[in-house]
Amino acid sequence: MIENVNVFARVRPLSGEESCLQIELSRIKVNDKAYDLNYVFDESASQEDVFDIVGRPIIDGFIEGINGTIFAYGQTGSGKTYTMLGPDINGVEINKTTDGIIPRADPFFKFSMKCTFLEIYNDEIYDLLRNEDISLKKPAIRVCAGDVENVEEKKVTSYSECMELLKRGIKKRKNAETAMNRESSRSHAILMLSLVTTETNGVNIHHIRTSKLNLVDLGGSESHKHTNNSGIRQQEGSKINQSLSFLVKVIGQIIDRNPHVSFRDSKLTLLLRESLSGNAKTAILYQH
Ligand code: ADP
Repeated sequence: MIENVNVFARVRPLSGEESCLQIELSRIKVNDKAYDLNYVFDESASQEDVFDIVGRPIIDGFIEGINGTIFAYGQTGSGKTYTMLGPDINGVEINKTTDGIIPRADPFFKFSMKCTFLEIYNDEIYDLLRNEDISLKKPAIRVCAGDVENVEEKKVTSYSECMELLKRGIKKRKNAETAMNRESSRSHAILMLSLVTTETNGVNIHHIRTSKLNLVDLGGSESHKHTNNSGIRQQEGSKINQSLSFLVKVIGQIIDRNPHVSFRDSKLTLLLRESLSGNAKTAILYQH
């Protein structure tokens, strides 16, 4: 990867009732801005193909101390969760061939890591690893100087510990969805991993390096047909579209090397700020 931001597209297999569609893509247009695609995955692409091309270079950088972010973007049902997590992360058997990017990334780490798992719903940040019920309390989480304050940060030393936290967070997200009468796919889930690598000469610590990796399962972009809903559904739909358009704007500014990037427009972009700026590597996968 040469560029800091790489743009990919993935087309999921058609379900029975959908008509056959052939797509040849080299550029994609999102919110009136066209992006060159680095690679297009058609419906025959495996989870491993996607991981090798999209995930691996960013994870290699993360181990070397370079921040990274990976997200899948698209309408509800386009395959974002499948790409990032897999078909059923809560399934009894973890199926290695259908695992998405997040579970595939974890076994790469031989160091100890810290893990935070957050959800953004209606532009509020919720902690998916905190014990208390998130539907009962207004979140006290703040994003400050590139860091999130007041969130649970768990130390993980193995793949299975990380998978346990991931499952716990996903379960909590599902429970909050029911308790707060939220529509699925109307929130973003962000697994943030921090890796601290310490080098010593045997006596003194002479180099400490920290890098962050954000693995993001974005909410689904909504067509106007759906945002015509009333009340809370309409608010959710327009909030998710607004937050996605702020993200697309920020990515566009980074690609254009604009010196003024509007990170402060939303909680999501503020949260990802550190991992989207500087020499950080970002992969965005448009799902169809
Ligand atoms: P989203 O997260 O964008 O709302 P999902 O990931 O839930 O969409 O995908 C919708 C459905 O399509 C799910 O049943 C999922 O398992 C299936 N699906 C998505 N992508 C693929 C794929 N590449 N191969 C097989 N099934 C897929």
